[in-house]
Parts: sequence; structure tokens; C-alpha cells
Amino acid sequence: VSSVEATRAMLDRIEAVDSQVNAYITVTPEQALVQAQDADRRIAAGEIAPLTGVPVGLKDIFVTKGIRTTCGSRILENFVPPYDGTAVAKLKEQGAVIVGKLNQDEFAMGSSNESSYFGPCRNPWDLSCTPGGSSGGSAAAIAARTATATLGTDTGGSIRQPASHCGCVGLKPTYGRVSRYGVIAYASSLDQVGPLTRDVTDSALLLGAVAGYDPMDSTSVNTPVPDYVAGLGKGVKGMKIGLPKQYFIEGLDPDVKRAMDEAIALYKSLGADIREVSLPNTEYAVATYYIIATAEASANLARYDGVRFGHRAENARGLAQMYSKSRAEGFGPEVKRRIMLGTYALSSGYYDAYYVKAQKVRTLIQQDFLNAFKEVDVLLTPIAPTPAFKIAEKLEDPLQMYLSDIFTIPVNLAGTCGISVPAGFSAAGLPIGLQLVGKPFGEQEILTAAYSFE
Ligand code: GLN
Repeated sequence: VSSVEATRAMLDRIEAVDSQVNAYITVTPEQALVQAQDADRRIAAGEIAPLTGVPVGLKDIFVTKGIRTTCGSRILENFVPPYDGTAVAKLKEQGAVIVGKLNQDEFAMGSSNESSYFGPCRNPWDLSCTPGGSSGGSAAAIAARTATATLGTDTGGSIRQPASHCGCVGLKPTYGRVSRYGVIAYASSLDQVGPLTRDVTDSALLLGAVAGYDPMDSTSVNTPVPDYVAGLGKGVKGMKIGLPKQYFIEGLDPDVKRAMDEAIALYKSLGADIREVSLPNTEYAVATYYIIATAEASANLARYDGVRFGHRAENARGLAQMYSKSRAEGFGPEVKRRIMLGTYALSSGYYDAYYVKAQKVRTLIQQDFLNAFKEVDVLLTPIAPTPAFKIAEKLEDPLQMYLSDIFTIPVNLAGTCGISVPAGFSAAGLPIGLQLVGKPFGEQEILTAAYSFE
């Protein structure tokens, strides 16, 4: 098939099923078909890159030139950026066809896609369940076959948890591996860009396509990008796989427990060396994360003031009222909660007790991981305590929602990499993912381990 045919088929599929799934906030058929024609021209000229003509979707947190970018928020409902961010530009350079912008929690704050101003996205495996979040649309589109691959962002699990709930592969690279230039900031010391795909090979391919140093992002790291696909077949014989004992606790959902036990048995049979390890500060991770993430969010979201871009309230009297009305109307309840929490944690008198303390605990959590990696090559853990939950189930209970990221958040605090791989189904037929955590810049090892499992 030509790229134009593949793109048309994808657009038809979106048209047919997305009214039920709501994975897309914006579909871009005209731009996609122009890019597909260009891809066909490149193929005819023999300029074929691995992504040439492949229909890709982007979380609506990636700024895209000439295409509305909402970040799931009313405040950016009509925001059309003047440039492409680095990851998007790299995909385009390699001939990928962007079919649209995907649903997400507002400003990536959430674990269920329910805080989106554009309505919840639904889990294609069971439409009464959430797809997870915040990159819910990026995962649901893979499961619904309305994108071949997508990009998401992961601040505290937002790629890995929805990938797990939707039965796809989601990778959070090491902090600094992928440029965030042109990615709307949530919590800048935690945010990373990564791929969601149907399988591990596509994950390796897409990571290779977007990774690398970028002078436009001072946090991107200048280390070479390996050929991740070439390294996939190395196998896990002799690989040391650690099971952090704090992650296999009483009360883990029985379906999740069974899937983990089966995965461990499979790795053993493939010759991996399985050991127990300890990450003693795990219990503080969620609390630490919600101080740091909200503090950074309260600073990052100060730019939405109704002046420079985004929603501006009408009929305000004076500047101060214009700011407050614009923000009151533009932000949803979860975003407001986070701004208030973060502002509180940073305010004088509380800064040392909360923010500084959280930074210290973060360092301890990071050291836990580095210590574990003296003994093992990768860690194996569940992604989420339960399979996908029902829409509205946790909406009224933010603490319950925050706890659904208990196994993914520590990896962001440590700044290292993790991948979610499908590991079976619950009794109710919902996908369950397992997590492999790697050393800093150990993406190759977790991809290889994931590939052997797949
Ligand atoms: N659920 C977490 C939060 O709401 C993680 C979100 C994310 O990774 N973007 O902050």
C-alpha cells in the first residue's frame, strides 16, 4: 500500500470508531494527506526511512505548527502554535504522517484521562473503563487501531500506566534522553517524552527516532543514541533481574499478582537470574512526588495569564481581575488543586518543611535505585495496583487516583527509564502490564528484556 492509502485507511478508521473512544481531540486529515503524498514521493525516490509514511498520533501536549494544541485544557482551546517541537520535527523529517492530536488529562495531571476539558477518553477493551492517563488518548489510539504509533509524556507514569491498561507497549526514557523543546511543561524536573506502540520493536524504532541531544533543551544529554532495534535480540540469559520487595506487597490485585508470577517464571525459564532487591524509601515516593510535581506545576502554569496566549475572560475590570477570571474560567478543578498545593508548598514558612524536605527524600529514592543497580541489571515490577478501573470510579477521591501511580512515580523521581509491556489479562479480560526499570540510559537493556518476554 502507498502512504496515501495507509493514511486514508487510518483516517477512515478514526471516523468509524473515535466517536466511541474519544482518543482524538483534533484530527488533521488535510495536513496528513499532504504529508502522505510527500512520503510517497520520497519512497518513489528511494529515500526510505523506517517511519516514512507511517500514521502517527501525538498527545495534545506537543506543540505543532499550525495545528491547535490544547493540552487538554480550556485555557488553550484555541491555541495554534507557530512551531513544531523537536520530537515532532524529528518524526516529520523521517517521513511520519501526523494524523491528529490525542486526548489527555488537562496539563497531564491525572491517571484516567477524566480531567480533560474535551471529555474522557474510553478504554477500547471495555468502554466503561478509563484508558488510564494522562496519555490516555495515546494508548487508546493504539488499542483501537486508530494510530500505528503515538508519542506521550510521562511525569509520574503517564505513558506506562495507560499503556498497561490498554495492552500496548509504553516507554519512559531516562530524563534527558529525549528533548522536551516544544512540549508543554508540567513538572520540568520529571517530564519525559516517549513512545506508545503495539510492540517492542516499534518502541525501539520510535525511541531511536526521537532521542538525542538538542541544543534547544538544556536538560537533554549529549550521549550517543544506540541502534535500539539492532540490540533487541540479545536475550536475557544471565541477565540479573531484581524484584523490589516493596512492590510485591499484600493487597496487590490477584490478577496482577498472577501475571507477575507468570512473567517471573518465564524469565527464569529463559535463563535470567532473578533476585530480590530492596528500595527502602518506596513508601515516601507518592508524597514526595506530589510536593515536587505540584510545586513545579504552580510555577510552569503561571504563564497562562490571559495576556500572552490562551483564553482571556471578557468583561474583567482591571488587570488583576482579568488574570484571575481568565484562570478561573480556563483551568479545570484538578489543575486548580495542583496550583494551590504547589503554591502552598513553595510559600515562605512552608518551603523548608515541604519542598526542601521532598527534594531530600527524592535524593534518597534515587540512591535506592542506584544501589539496586549495583546488584542487578533491570528491575521487574507491576505497573499499576489494578487493571483499568471504571470511569468515574476514582474521580471524587483524588488520593485514590494519586495512589494508582505508586509503582511508576519512583522511576520519574529517580530520573531513570522504564517500559510497560503487556503481560496477560485479568479474569474480566482487561490487559495487565509489567514494568521493567533500567539504569540511567539503560533503555537498550529494558527493550531487550521486554522483547524476550513479548
Ligand atoms: N498521575 C500523575 C499525576 O497526575 C502522573 C501524571 C503524568 O505522568 N503526567 O501527576
